[in-house]
Amino acid sequence: MKNDDRTTDSGTGTRLATAGRRPEWTGTAGHPSSVVNPPVWRASTHLYPDVAALKSGAQASDETRFYYGRRGAPTQWALAEALTELEPGAAGTLLYPSGVAAIAGALLALVKPGDHLLMADNVYEPSRTLGRGLLTGFGIETEFFDPLDCESFARLIRPNTRAVLLEAPGSLTMEVPDIPAFAAIARERGVISLIDNTWASPLGFPALERGCDIAIMSLTKHVGGHSDVMMGSVAAGAALYPKLRRTYLQLGHVVSPDDAALALRGLRTLQVRLERSTASALQIARWLAGRPEVAQVLCPMLPGAQGHETWARTFTGGCGLFSFLFRDGDEAARARFIDALSLFGIGYSWGGFESLVVPVDPAGARSATAWPPPGVAPADRLGVRLSIGLEEPADLIADLDRAFARMAGQ
Ligand SMILES: *Cc1c(COP(=O)(O)O)cnc(C)c1O
Repeated sequence: MKNDDRTTDSGTGTRLATAGRRPEWTGTAGHPSSVVNPPVWRASTHLYPDVAALKSGAQASDETRFYYGRRGAPTQWALAEALTELEPGAAGTLLYPSGVAAIAGALLALVKPGDHLLMADNVYEPSRTLGRGLLTGFGIETEFFDPLDCESFARLIRPNTRAVLLEAPGSLTMEVPDIPAFAAIARERGVISLIDNTWASPLGFPALERGCDIAIMSLTKHVGGHSDVMMGSVAAGAALYPKLRRTYLQLGHVVSPDDAALALRGLRTLQVRLERSTASALQIARWLAGRPEVAQVLCPMLPGAQGHETWARTFTGGCGLFSFLFRDGDEAARARFIDALSLFGIGYSWGGFESLVVPVDPAGARSATAWPPPGVAPADRLGVRLSIGLEEPADLIADLDRAFARMAGQ
């Protein structure tokens, strides 16, 4: 979907409220804009009045003319256009059935046998598995680098290095790479930079504007926001978008109109939810930093925490996701702590309205850097990740307080 100058100059809240609501998508016959949201268009087949119309329909590669269900319909187009309007520098956005499908779809569009691919050591584990698995089988070599060391990244670039996958912060370990610096090196050396921008979304990190070529999100997290939909997105500027779309069409990706409507509903409230969960997370991170059971709070939004300086310099916002490490933790104590929580659900994913907790054990998912990192005592390596939702922060703190007591056997 193309950027449209109607709303790109407006403030974020205004864009979130208006994006993607084209009159031709929200209208009914003879009544333009007759409803607020684009209706759920459940459709595979477009019926044509005659053969000539069918033939001219097949020639249309325009993304806003209904041709066949796999190319989407107004519900999906409205979501894609809204996401494009929120990503400064984007020429278009593609929707995938999950965040992992978005990462795989973008990489498959770019790399070919014989290519070299670089990935930051803090990437989401399934991204690493893709590099090590499917892409290796296709004759693409994936190498990992320290996400905090631009020099080591620059040294690994070869003539056949095609792309680099970045992520900030790491979604378990929360280190914050200096993305504009990595992206600048990549651009100078002719390497395409992709970022998994699920944590910040364009509201907290306008990735294309900061020098990345491709911005990927798991919409399952913040955009969906209600733990009831799986989806991913890839946004890119005019230079790469057509190439990404060609591969997207060849792979046959399409998202359901029902899911697109859910994601679009979530998107409307993205800013208020992010602001609320960021403020609550910061309050809870501060409280945790003062607890004797806590060795380190891995929350880049917290002044003094690792990565805070880079985050404050390069990001414009945060979210509710962060981790902390137990002082002298052991597995059994950590399990007692997690099991004692009643407001935090134990489960994967994050970015929903409800708080979640999972243990953090990233050691097996690193190869260029060690976990725990230098500066963290081996006894302090066990942690948990919290996704702070929209509950009252005081209630969440009381829940964590009870869990610390239970951990200590009280
Ligand atoms: C969850 C997640 C993904 C994958 O998204 P799915 O929609 O679950 O496939 C990708 N990157 C990050 C950082 C994630 O947290």
